[in-house]
Amino acid sequence: MKYRIDYASELNPAQLEAVRNILGPVLVIAGAGSGKTRTLVYRVARLVEEGVPPERILLLTFTRKAAREMLRRAALLLDEKCENVSGGTFHSLAHLMLRQYGHLIGYSRNFTILDRGDAEDAINLLRTALGLADRKRRFPRKETIASIFSMAVNKRISLEEVVNEEYPHFLDDLEDLARLFEHYVRYKQEHQLMDYDDLLVNWYRVLKGFPEVRREMGRRFEFIMVDEYQDTNALQAEIVRFMAEEHGNVMVVGDDSQSIYAFRGANFKNIIEFPRLFPGTKIIKLEENYRSRQPILDLANTVIEYAKEKYTKCLFTRREGGATPVLYKARDEADQSRFIADRILELREEGVPLSEIAVLFRSAYHSFDLELELAKRNIPFVKQGGMKLIETAHIKDIVAHLRLLVNPYDMLAWNRVLLLIEGIGPKTSKRLMEYLKVEEDPFEALYRYPSKPSFAKGLNELARLFGELRANLSPEEKLARLYEYYEPIFERVYYDDHPKRAKDLDQLLAIAHKYETVEEFLADLALEPPEASVAEVEALENEDEKLVLSTVHSAKGLEWHSVFVISLAEGRFPSSYALGKEESIEEERRLFYVAVTRAKENLYLTYPATYYAPGEGRIFSKPSRFLEEVKDKLNPWYEKDDSFMEDEEDVGSSFKPGELVWHPVFGEGKVKRMADIDKVVVQFASAGERTLHLKFARLERL
Ligand code: ATP
Ligand code: MG
Repeated sequence: MKYRIDYASELNPAQLEAVRNILGPVLVIAGAGSGKTRTLVYRVARLVEEGVPPERILLLTFTRKAAREMLRRAALLLDEKCENVSGGTFHSLAHLMLRQYGHLIGYSRNFTILDRGDAEDAINLLRTALGLADRKRRFPRKETIASIFSMAVNKRISLEEVVNEEYPHFLDDLEDLARLFEHYVRYKQEHQLMDYDDLLVNWYRVLKGFPEVRREMGRRFEFIMVDEYQDTNALQAEIVRFMAEEHGNVMVVGDDSQSIYAFRGANFKNIIEFPRLFPGTKIIKLEENYRSRQPILDLANTVIEYAKEKYTKCLFTRREGGATPVLYKARDEADQSRFIADRILELREEGVPLSEIAVLFRSAYHSFDLELELAKRNIPFVKQGGMKLIETAHIKDIVAHLRLLVNPYDMLAWNRVLLLIEGIGPKTSKRLMEYLKVEEDPFEALYRYPSKPSFAKGLNELARLFGELRANLSPEEKLARLYEYYEPIFERVYYDDHPKRAKDLDQLLAIAHKYETVEEFLADLALEPPEASVAEVEALENEDEKLVLSTVHSAKGLEWHSVFVISLAEGRFPSSYALGKEESIEEERRLFYVAVTRAKENLYLTYPATYYAPGEGRIFSKPSRFLEEVKDKLNPWYEKDDSFMEDEEDVGSSFKPGELVWHPVFGEGKVKRMADIDKVVVQFASAGERTLHLKFARLERL
C-alpha cells in the first residue's frame, strides 16, 4: 500500500516499528523527549490511513486538552478525519460508556454526574442531616471532606490512612467521617448520582462483571492507545486490560522515570507489569532524544542515574552543541527573581518568544516573588497549576487591611475587613460602612460605634490594630503586627486548610521585607495587569505572547525553548513534605527529571542562598540535593563586573553613555553603558533599566 505520509522519513526505526506494528499489544517505554507522544500521533494517522474508521480508535491521555492537541496534529498530517478519533481521558470514556451500560449495575441512562462542587454540596447536605454541622467543634469543610473521600477511593486505602497522612488535625473526627462516607455512598446510589471517582469505579465494575460488555468494547474500539501510562492507577490499568481483552490491540507509552502522581494513587509499576497483563507484548525502547541539546541531556541522565528504581536507560541526542545548563546561586529570592527577569528580557531580545520560555517550580507559592517582579517589568505571564499570589483569598484579606492604611475610605476593603470579624454579616457591615464613610477619622470612629455585644470585642480589636499600624513602622513590622491580629481569624475562616495556606503568608512577609513603605509594597501587589500603555504596545508587537509559569506537575509532556527551574533548595525542591521519606524523595527526583527535560535549548537552575523566614530573619538555605548530584554538569553564573564595564570606552559600537534613544516598545530612554561587546544598557523613562542586544533591538538615536 502506498501511504500519503512518508513515515520512514518522519520517524526513526524504533518509532516506525511502533507505528507499523498495529496488531497485538505494544509497550513503548522510553525516556523524556524520545518521541513517545509523536509516535502515538503518527500511529493514529497510520491507522486511519490503513482504513480503520476513526471512531474505532481510542486514544487515552492525561488531560482532554492533550488528546485534542494530538488529534489536531494527526489531522494536520493526514486529514480532518483524524479529529473523529475517540480521544479523551479515562474519566470521559467511563462517562460515555456508563450512559449506555450503567443499567447493568442499577443506574439509569440518565444518572447525574456530580462535579466536584456538586459532590461537596451533597456532602454538606448529609453532614447537616447527620447533625455534624451544628456543633461548636470544628468539623472539616465540605471541600476537605470531598478530598479525603476521593483520595481514599483513588489510592484504595482507608479513610484513616488518608487522615493520618494528610489531615492529622482531624483525627478526632474519624468516626464521624466514616459514618458520613457510608451515607454519602448510599445517598449517591439511591439518587442515581455519580461523582468523578465513581465513574472509574463503576465502569470497572461493569467491565469486570459482564464479559459481554468486554466483547462489545472489543468490537467498538478495535485499537487502543494510552499516553503517559506511568501515571495510571490500579483501576485504570484494569480498565485498559478489560477494554483490550477481546483483541489485544493496545499500545501504551510511558516513562517510569517520569511517574509523578503517586500521591494520587498512580503506580509506575503498572508500566513494568503491562507485559504480564498482555502476554506476547512487543516491547520497544526509544533511545534517541529529539528535544534537548546534549548538555541538558547529560544533566538529565545524571539525575536519573541516582534514582533507586528505574527501567529506562540512558538517552542520547544528535543535537550536539548548545550551552551548558546554568546554575545561578542568588543572594535571596528577590535576587533570584531579578536574575530570571533579566535573562527573560535578554532571550526576548534575541528573538525567543515569551511563550517559548517557562519558569517551573515545585509548589505554586514559590513563584510569588517572581510574579511581582514580572508585573513590575511588564512581562506578561500565565500561571498553570496554582493560584497567583494576588488571587488567593487569604492574601486578599491581608491586602484589604493594608489598603485601608493608605486610604481609610476604601469601602471595598472595609467590607472585606469587616466581614472577617466574627458576628459581622453583610447587613452589619453595610451599616458600619455608612457610618464610617462620613467620619473624619474612620479608625478612631470604630471605638465609638454602638456595637452589639456579639461583635463589640472584634471591632475594638480592629480599632486597636489600626491605631498601632499607623505608627512609624516598616512594612514588614506592620505586616507582622497584622498577622498577630489576623491569626485567629485565619484559623477560623480557613480552618480546614490553614496549615497549607500559612506558607503563602510567610512568603508575603518575606516579600514585604524588601520595601520601605506600605504604599510601594501595595503598588507592586496591585500591578496586575501591567500598566496599559506599555502592555498595549507589546500586545500589538507580539500577539498575546505570554511567559509560562507552571508547577512541574502541570508541565508534564510539554516543551519550551528555554526553561528555568527555580527555588532548588532543600525543603522547597525536594519539598519539605518529602524530607526523610525515601519513597517521597524518589518521587521528587522524578519530578526534577520531568522539570529539566522540558528544555530544548537553554536550562537555568536557580536557588536563593538565603531565605527570609518570619520570626527568624534571614536564614541560609541548603542547596537542593539534586543540585549536588548534577553539579558537574552545571556552569555557575557570575554577574559581570559592572564597574569594569563602565570604564570601558565605547567598544566599536555606535552608542555612547548619555545618548538619548528610542525603542518601539519601551519608548524614550538614555544609554547608561555598554555591556559585553554587543549589548547596551538603557534607562527608559517608562520601562526602567533594560539590557538590549544590539543585533536585535531596534534602537534609534533621538
Ligand atoms: P515526554 O516524555 O516529555 O512526554 P515524549 O517522549 O512524548 O516526551 P515527544 O514530545 O513526542 O516526546 O517528542 C519530543 C520532541 O522531539 C518533539 O518536539 C517531537 O516533535 C520531536 N521528535 C520526536 N521524534 C522525532 C523524530 N523522529 N524526528 C524529528 N523530531 C522528533
Ligand atoms: Mg509525551
